[in-house]
Amino acid sequence: MPNLIAVDLGGTQIRAGIVTENGRILEHARTPTPVVGQSGAVVTDALLGLIERLLRSPAGTEAAIAAVGISSAGPLDLTRGMMVHSPNIAFPEVALVEPVRERFGVPTFLVNDARAGLLGERWVGAARGCGNVVYVTMSTGIGGGAVVGGRLLLGRNGNAGEIGHLFVDNHYNQRCGCGHLGHWEAYGSGRFMPRFFAAWQESEGIGDAGFVADTPAAIFAAARAGEPVALAFMEALGRVNARGISNVIVAYNPEVIVFDGPIARYNGDLVIEHLMPFVDRYLALPRLVVSTFEGRAPLLGAAAYAWESL
Ligand code: BGC
Repeated sequence: MPNLIAVDLGGTQIRAGIVTENGRILEHARTPTPVVGQSGAVVTDALLGLIERLLRSPAGTEAAIAAVGISSAGPLDLTRGMMVHSPNIAFPEVALVEPVRERFGVPTFLVNDARAGLLGERWVGAARGCGNVVYVTMSTGIGGGAVVGGRLLLGRNGNAGEIGHLFVDNHYNQRCGCGHLGHWEAYGSGRFMPRFFAAWQESEGIGDAGFVADTPAAIFAAARAGEPVALAFMEALGRVNARGISNVIVAYNPEVIVFDGPIARYNGDLVIEHLMPFVDRYLALPRLVVSTFEGRAPLLGAAAYAWESL
């Protein structure tokens, strides 16, 4: 039985795995996403190197590899098989499909990481059998994917569902990595939440009582410990997250929203608890759940996408 290789290219790391036809990951490898170099070719090379590492592993040498499925942070240009101007990647363009196809000689398919995460959840996870579902990843960036009426929305270039770039605020005016102001990602993502925390403290005039937090994990840990400044910030964060989720609900009318990405994985309970009071009740609330795949949903979904496309 042939297996395939799935790759997940994110703002912080590249993961890859050998995946069976029924969604089992046989081997897994990861490497940091390069941030220094002449061009996006350094990212392509890191990705090719990771695939080679997997092919040298026992599972890679034993079974034929039918295809490669790549899940990547967007935006994407599916006609050229590339990542283009991705806000959390250091290079304007990263070639993905052609270099992989040329090096390994197998069919290669590309899909956005959040659309891939959604496919993973539908294949073997929390959204199995669900015809109306949205997946929200809160990682280095914020991304999304939607299945509406049983169909995955891809849009013109594979970019339908770039929900991290929904406008959610014009009070704190935080700038997103894409250059625009007020985007959800500029508040709730792993990259920007600490900066939003600092901006919020300044705007609230919180002097000596405040503190610097370098990571979202530090902010959530302080909130869990009952630290008053962190707890008050949970409300501000809840309001922007609720604006994002309210927009998602009216746009897609889902039965369930699956949260994923490191922020949701470790602190999804706090994220959901603090956004709930501020979500618009215009439409019926979907179920809000947290992925149980520990970050592997995009890999599984890239595999599912490749199996379906073969
Ligand atoms: C990108 C999305 C991606 C998300 C999560 C965002 O910055 O624009 O395409 O899905 O990060 O990686």
